[in-house]
Amino acid sequence: MILYNYGCACGNRFEAFVANMSAPNPSCPECGGETNRMPARVNFGGQADPGPSRDELPRSWRGVGNGDRETIRHFQRVTERREKLEEKYPELAGDRRPVLAHEGIFEKRPLRAGDDIATAVKEAAAAAKAVPEGEPK
Ligand SMILES: [Zn+2]
Repeated sequence: MILYNYGCACGNRFEAFVANMSAPNPSCPECGGETNRMPARVNFGGQADPGPSRDELPRSWRGVGNGDRETIRHFQRVTERREKLEEKYPELAGDRRPVLAHEGIFEKRPLRAGDDIATAVKEAAAAAKAVPEGEPK
């Protein structure tokens, strides 16, 4: 479910959850009229809203309103904003290296391309094994 802001020609503004990005806009709760999706508010409790993560951005033609120009422009802006934010706060981008192993001891701490294997195995084994309190790590 995704929370969007909607606006109606009658002036009503409201938020609604929809199943996905290509879901039809809900009708206006005030007048029942057609609504338009509005850009999300930027302010989020004083902090910059990081916006949707890359995985939440539309990848398909349908996801951008069958190529609706306004929708595409909106998501281009969202993506650019996200990229700028990730430049400033790399932790938001997460680890984007390909995962080589994610089973067994790598369940909690996946092995990624570029990891030093010996170190990764040691760390993953330590993370997989719960260390009882009071014992040295
Ligand atoms: Zn309305």
